[in-house]
Parts: sequence; C-alpha cells; structure tokens
Amino acid sequence: MYDIIIVGLGPAGAVLAAGLDSKFSVLCIDKKQNSGGFMKPCGGLLAPDAQKALAQLGLNLPKDVLVDPQIFSVRTIDTDNSLIRSYQRMYINLDRHKFDLWLMSEIPDNVTCVGGTVTKISRTAKGFSVSRTENGQVITEECRYLVGADGAKSAVRKLICPELKTRSYLAVQQWFRDENPVPFYSCIFDSKITDCYSWTVSKDGNFIFGGAYPRNNARSLFEQQKKKLSALGMHFGEPVKTEACLVLRPTGLNSFCCADKGVFLVGEAAGFISPSSLEGISSAVISAAALAEAFNRSVKSPEEAYRKAMLSLRLKLTAKLLKCPFMYNPFLRSIVMKSGVMTVNVKNGDKF
Ligand SMILES: Cc1cc2nc3c(=O)[nH]c(=O)nc-3n(C[C@H](O)[C@H](O)[C@H](O)COP(=O)(O)OP(=O)(O)OC[C@H]3O[C@@H](n4cnc5c(N)ncnc54)[C@H](O)[C@@H]3O)c2cc1C
Repeated sequence: MYDIIIVGLGPAGAVLAAGLDSKFSVLCIDKKQNSGGFMKPCGGLLAPDAQKALAQLGLNLPKDVLVDPQIFSVRTIDTDNSLIRSYQRMYINLDRHKFDLWLMSEIPDNVTCVGGTVTKISRTAKGFSVSRTENGQVITEECRYLVGADGAKSAVRKLICPELKTRSYLAVQQWFRDENPVPFYSCIFDSKITDCYSWTVSKDGNFIFGGAYPRNNARSLFEQQKKKLSALGMHFGEPVKTEACLVLRPTGLNSFCCADKGVFLVGEAAGFISPSSLEGISSAVISAAALAEAFNRSVKSPEEAYRKAMLSLRLKLTAKLLKCPFMYNPFLRSIVMKSGVMTVNVKNGDKF
C-alpha cells in the first residue's frame, strides 16, 4: 500500500515525484523507456515561462539536452493573407526525450519508479488499485492517493471528470532530414486546414513539421498542408519518422479538472496547456510543484489546498484566450502582421 501512486513521468509527474517529502511512500509508473518505446511527440521548445518555472525549482538545464541550432526568431506564415513576418522569441531548443529523462533523473532514490502501461484503475475501500502491464505481465498495486500525470489522454482523469469535454486536436508531426538552406522555426496559420495552427522546428539536422488538426480528418489535412507549403518553397523530402498524439486546447475555466476524493491531476491531464500557443511544459512544472507543496504541508485536505493553488494558473491560461482572435482570426491577424509591431527584420526571413 503506497501513500501515493503517480501515473506518468513526463515533466509534470517527474517534477512532482522529485518534490514530494521523503515521509511519503511513492510509486511512479510510466510507459516511456530509456531508449526505444514511447517518446512524447513535441516541438521541444522551452518557453520563457517554463524556463522561469525551472529556475524557481533551482533546476539548471544540462547542456546534453540542448540541440543545434538555438534560433531567436519565429517566422509567422499566414497563408490566408499571404503574409510572412518574423518575431523575436527566446525559446530553448531541446531534445524532448532527453529533457524528460533528465527530469526523471532528479527523482530521489526513495521513490520507486517502474515501467509499464497502466491498464486498469479502480477505487477500493482504502483508496485505489492500479494495474499495469509490463513485459506481458499484469501487476497490481494499491495506494491512498492517486495522481494522474498521464497527459492529454489521461486515464486517471476519467475517475473524477468523466464528462469533461475539453476541446482536443490530433497533433501530427513528421521528421525529415533538413534540406532547407537555413534552419528556422515557423508557425503557420491556414484557416482552411485547421482552426488551430501548425509549426516547423529545425533540430540537429532534422526538419520537423507538425500541426494540430481536427481529429476526424487529421492525417489528410496534414498531407494537404504539406503540399501547400511545398508549393511555397518549403523542403520536405522523405519522412524519417511520423508521430501523433492528442493535444488539449482549453476553452474556459471549466476546461480544467484539478482534484477530488483522493485523485489529483497535474499538467496536461488537468487540462493545463496554453490555448493560444499549445505551450504546456511550464504549466506541467508549475502544477506539479504546487501539488508537491500541498502534500508536503500535510494539510487535512490536500485536494482543497491544490485546487486553491491552481486558481492563478487556471485564470492565466483562460486569459490567454483573449489573445486568440488576434492570432486565429484571419482579418485581425492581417492587421497585426501588417502593422509591423514587434516584428524583426531577418535576412532572407521570407525565403525557404
Ligand atoms: C506535437 C506537440 C508539440 C508540442 N510542443 C511543445 C513545445 O514545443 N513546448 C511546450 O512547452 N509544449 C509543447 N507541447 C505541449 C507539451 O508537450 C505538453 O503540454 C507537456 O508535455 C505536458 O506534460 P505532462 O507531464 O503533463 O504530460 P506528458 O508530457 O504527455 O507526459 C505524460 C506521461 O504519461 C505517460 N503515460 C500516459 N499514459 C500512461 C499509461 N496509461 N501508463 C503509463 N504511463 C502513461 C507517458 O509515457 C508520458 O511520459 C506540445 C504538444 C504536442 C502534442
């Protein structure tokens, strides 16, 4: 019988496991492995909010999680209005899998971390029973408190918010050998393809193209958009790897689900991700650090303490919805882009 079982060791689960007091017995379960196996599809860009959240935890990024090159501008490609502008951005370009493994390496030895996919969760008289499948074997453990750090498609969330219908998209990403003359980042808006957005990132000689698409037609929209961008001069070549996963996009305060009756959600499992940019690492780190504090302070009701602590994050993410019309409405976006406000003149910034 563990005090706490954490399902998922992405940034949220790993930061929580590292922050919990040693008085708790903790089991963490994640289907990711050191090499091979599951890897989270991600742009791997660490935004300033995420950098600040790591700084607040005293965590310094090791250089082996960085990739080449570090780029300080993003090309905004608006195919609705045939506009391209560059904006300064202070992202850190990462190898996302190495980043996750580094955060896991910060978990102290008193926490038990195991592999496997959680396949069954149920309530018991004393808490929860959690079954995982590892190497074909089903193993069941019990706990008092259960934490879902299991991302957008959280199985734990179903225990307390079965009806939560946060807007979601299928994110599709493809990796190519980079044949573009100069590495670059871009974000692409095309309202005929998706009401969300797409992106490209250059990483260690690879060119990654991805986007968030309506779920029922995602793969075909992805291929259509690739063709349109090829016609604009973007170089794709043969794909090396294709990956896809669900991504959430909150629409208001009721898109989030934090805690109830011994179940806690952190990171994207709770719906914590920016609705304007889909940046989610900062929210994962912030929510996990807050939950660790709620448990460590041994308040009578960690649920209440955590829900209160998350009010500011919920408000902050909801406020980001105010930015959305200026990014996603083609008319308003064209005014913003044509105004030239905050743009940077990048040499050959409109050529591929
Ligand atoms: C394509 C794409 C690009 C993105 N790019 C960026 C970016 O550049 N910058 C940024 O800040 N954010 C980005 N995001 C968002 C960001 O990736 C997520 O918000 C962030 O990873 C959330 O962290 P998390 O720890 O909550 O969940 P996750 O990182 O999703 O981690 C969940 C963990 O749970 C484990 N898991 C899930 N189910 C089970 C199960 N049943 N059993 C065992 N283990 C399980 C998984 O192995 C995983 O390790 C992107 C998202 C997508 C989809």
